[in-house]
Amino acid sequence: MSTPPITSNILSVALDVPLDRTFDYLNQGFHVQIGQRVVVPFAGRQLVGVVLAMPAHSDIGLDKLKTVIHVFDDIALDKSIYPLLQFCAGYYHYPLGQLLISTLPLRMRQIKPAVSRKSFVYRMLKPIPVECVQKRQLVLQRIVQALSHQQTLSEHQLSALAPAWRKWLQPLIEEGYVQAEEVIAVKPSVPTSPIAPHLNAEQQQAIDAVLQAPGVFKPWLLYGITGSGKTEVYIQLLASVLAQPQAQALVLVPEINLTPQLEARFRSRLSQYPLVTLHSNLSESERLQNWLAAKSGAAKIVIGTRLSVFTPMPHLQLLIIDEEHDGSYKQQDGMRYHARDVAMVRAKQFNIPIVLGSATPSLETWYNATASLHKKQSYGLLTLTQRAVTHAVLPKIFCIDIAKSPVENGLSPLLIQAMRERLARKEQSLLFINRRGYAPVLHCSACQWHSSCARCSAKLVVHLSQRRLKCHHCGHEQKIPLQCPSCGNTDLKPVGQATQRLTQTLAQLFPTARIARVDRDSMRNKDALTEMLSKVHAGEIDILVGTQMLAKGHDFPNLTLVGVIDTDTALYSPDFRASERLFSQLMQVSGRAGRGNIAGEVLIQTSFPDHDLFHALRAQDYAVFADALLQERIAMQFPPSRFFVLLKAEASDYQQVLQFLNMASDTARQLSNEVLVYDPVRPQMERLKSLERGHVLLQAEKRQSLQQLLHVWIPALRAHKLSSKIRWALDIDPLEF
Ligand code: ADP
Ligand code: ZN
Ligand code: ZN
Repeated sequence: MSTPPITSNILSVALDVPLDRTFDYLNQGFHVQIGQRVVVPFAGRQLVGVVLAMPAHSDIGLDKLKTVIHVFDDIALDKSIYPLLQFCAGYYHYPLGQLLISTLPLRMRQIKPAVSRKSFVYRMLKPIPVECVQKRQLVLQRIVQALSHQQTLSEHQLSALAPAWRKWLQPLIEEGYVQAEEVIAVKPSVPTSPIAPHLNAEQQQAIDAVLQAPGVFKPWLLYGITGSGKTEVYIQLLASVLAQPQAQALVLVPEINLTPQLEARFRSRLSQYPLVTLHSNLSESERLQNWLAAKSGAAKIVIGTRLSVFTPMPHLQLLIIDEEHDGSYKQQDGMRYHARDVAMVRAKQFNIPIVLGSATPSLETWYNATASLHKKQSYGLLTLTQRAVTHAVLPKIFCIDIAKSPVENGLSPLLIQAMRERLARKEQSLLFINRRGYAPVLHCSACQWHSSCARCSAKLVVHLSQRRLKCHHCGHEQKIPLQCPSCGNTDLKPVGQATQRLTQTLAQLFPTARIARVDRDSMRNKDALTEMLSKVHAGEIDILVGTQMLAKGHDFPNLTLVGVIDTDTALYSPDFRASERLFSQLMQVSGRAGRGNIAGEVLIQTSFPDHDLFHALRAQDYAVFADALLQERIAMQFPPSRFFVLLKAEASDYQQVLQFLNMASDTARQLSNEVLVYDPVRPQMERLKSLERGHVLLQAEKRQSLQQLLHVWIPALRAHKLSSKIRWALDIDPLEF
């Protein structure tokens, strides 16, 4: 920030405390700028806060104000991000201070200087008079000569010229001849000489459309199957946008681990533009460095996960959300924001285009981008209809009716045969099963006992190699019992399929095949996935068994068969988004097959081959499926045709939860007649981590009606006597209810 520091007496400070306000402190003599970090006393502790304003007056008497303990002059938050934070605090009804602090890198939330050492480059501002140099010495002459020949000199270059350069340079800085500029390090991309493919007509149209109105807010949906060239569109869009001086772009990805190839591709194709990533796999110091590079404008491209939507980027010109339908864009605790929605607001505030890319767009986005069905078309629709590489044909998708052709150990004879053929041809197969562990449950055939978690409404999953039962919801673990806890029977059997068991079965069926398992258990280590993927690429793996970790982004040219095990539970799940999610998942895994020269085949084991979802999937026509789903949602008044707020409450005693929720729904009904208030219900997972849970759902035609209600409803909830006894939270635009 360029405004000169001033000494103000009162500072309004944002703190990480659950209260909807800022706090005034007295400043005694520190030079402060808005956005700077301060240390203040709060309720007997010391907290780091950020100065949001320097008001002339405080509502609290000056004699009552506490004094600022320290001011860090290392980093000031950029004010370009405030409007976004302010919007989110209002829309999600979440304290601004908590939100603001949570968007900062950890180093900035700690009570110590965040940056240990800054580095600078030196620039000559005006010619240095000869006498000024002569008076001094030969060393100085060398420095001045170098300065006048080069735009800037780094500290490293200066040290090479003269070890004591600081002493010589200081007077020139003080006299205004030379200026020190802070540099923020960005890991350089390795320049390669990649050839940009010639875009096909649809790709070109997409790029032209987005570029036609720069400096204007406009959302675009880039809709195209895997391999249709969406990433290529991003790359060439970025190249055009970043060619403008200073311009920056933000690319959001669901999970950085799952898209390792994206960063590499961007680095090689856009190597002239400094690129940083922001995600939770970085060390804290890397994260801070990268964040600073974004904030200072030094990084031109930021690739980041959900939280990076809040990264200050003063010259942001383009926003891209890859795999926009992905559920991991939604934060599920604290401020329950949806990064795609926040990005939309940000694009609007910055007046820039935003591109949402997907093969299976969320119904929210589909609703906004399909004109024929609804009056309000607000997004531009850009469609890529073919695979970009002409010889890469679409995989063929078939269902195996397991009602007719029963499975043994989870595998049907047809699927086994297909795998055998792949092995003979030295091609690779992938089996997709979205459940980790050995088996989903342990069962007693004598008394029908099954392993369930004492703390959650969930089954305990069998992890045979560790001889343990684990709850995948609360982390509870116990030894596998030797006999049934209920009847003493010693013949307990794991029931159902999961990754470990499937891997074991395959090893028995194909003893010579090289089989690998990819799930959260086998890929604990941060680099394990990358290593595994390169083994697959190198042809060192014949059969992969994996969860959704494998579904995304990876491109295996020699993989020609995808088998899908056990999807039927999702087909008839009570969760209204389940089929939307299942379709996108199956489409994504299908996309793993046949990306090279060989056509791929996808075999899905199901008892319901005639389900609409499979018809659409076999035709690889998401549009038809999405339109049908959307009609259903509209008819049922579900999202995206209506807006929802979910009040979630939990406590060890459900009676208290119910009492609170009854009060909440009664109050809401009294406060608004534009909002439909449902009665309290229990969610599918009734108990979690020993807490009994309940929900109240609010529904409205307009967001505004909900917002108006929330403004008066929340204070009423807070004022209630049970409010502090139970845990409750609001989820605005919940993904599930
Ligand atoms: P998506 O992101 O939709 O999965 P990609 O952009 O990764 O698709 O493209 C798939 C493959 O096709 C990549 O290998 C890419 O280099 C290539 N490709 C993309 N566009 C073209 C094009 N216009 N001509 C030739 N190859 C292309
Ligand atoms: Zn029993
Ligand atoms: Zn549990």
